[in-house]
Amino acid sequence: MPFLMKYPITRKYLPNKSRRRPGLKNLGVLFIVDHDTGNPGSSARGNVGWMDSTANLVPLLQVSSAHTFIDDIEIIECVPLDEMAYHVLFGVKTDNALYGHDANRAAIGVELCYGGKINNQKSYEKYVWYNAYLCHIFKLDPKKHITAHYTLDPGRKTDPKLGLASVGRNLQSFIKDVENELEACMQEVKGATKPEVKESVSVSNYLKRGDTGTAVKQLQENLIKAGLELSIDSSYGPATENAVKAFQTANGLTADGSYGPVTKVKLDASIKPKPAVTSTPIEKGDEITLSNLLKFSTNEGKNAILRVLKRFEMKDHALGKVWREKVENGTFTQDDSHEVMWVAVDRGYITGKME
Ligand SMILES: [Zn+2]
Repeated sequence: MPFLMKYPITRKYLPNKSRRRPGLKNLGVLFIVDHDTGNPGSSARGNVGWMDSTANLVPLLQVSSAHTFIDDIEIIECVPLDEMAYHVLFGVKTDNALYGHDANRAAIGVELCYGGKINNQKSYEKYVWYNAYLCHIFKLDPKKHITAHYTLDPGRKTDPKLGLASVGRNLQSFIKDVENELEACMQEVKGATKPEVKESVSVSNYLKRGDTGTAVKQLQENLIKAGLELSIDSSYGPATENAVKAFQTANGLTADGSYGPVTKVKLDASIKPKPAVTSTPIEKGDEITLSNLLKFSTNEGKNAILRVLKRFEMKDHALGKVWREKVENGTFTQDDSHEVMWVAVDRGYITGKME
């Protein structure tokens, strides 16, 4: 269904595989966490530029990021929406209780810029629209699937209260505004004669029956790699839809025949080649640094990682077990090592000097 693209979205991604953007796929987008920058007058471009220039310099204990920054001038996505960003502490439990997952794995983090020379009203209007846009492309309900950073981490955070207060709003009235915007953007498109939304919808990683082009071709190639029978014609017709449904059914997903972020994650995972093995030894026992974690593939490295994960398992049995089994059966990847590092640092399981 079309959606009125009121504003352009600038994609200016942080360096991949950096501390701020580890390049880990999320589980799909199940909810939205709204933030404000807490730094009145700082712009979207300024925030993204700063994160970009410190993408690998930021100390691990202070790593943070978000997908999107919004001010009165522009909307900038700096982490792709199918990747994790680090915007809520992993150790917080409220996100797990409300949504069944850590926010960093299953939510988009959106930052509102306000104050100083920023036109708060214009900035807020873009923020409302962008939240509605996310609800549209990820099929979310504003009432159920929009939450605030302070809701998830009330002991440490108050955002985006101040940002919303700059235009006389609170979380409840903001969510109401998003609901109204969502409805308005759907209706306006219905009456529009020239649908300019096609391209923007397709960059959202959402493909469905009727779509054509290179993205569909890529999908068809991937479906074939995943073992489905299909011919490549770059057109999302009934055969492609049936192949997607078959793949979704086989992978425990809702078989709606549309290719969205959740299906994409599963499909990418199912055709991913086994990781290449590198062989640099770990020099110092089980001292945990990012570079040591990345050297997991030697026997010595493997044993060091196993020792760490055993410790991890005592704290978080389920997660530690998943990772330990991956090391044992040889499927532990560099992405996994980044994630172990993030979570371990975040939860204070690893202490001492970080590189
Ligand atoms: Zn926040």
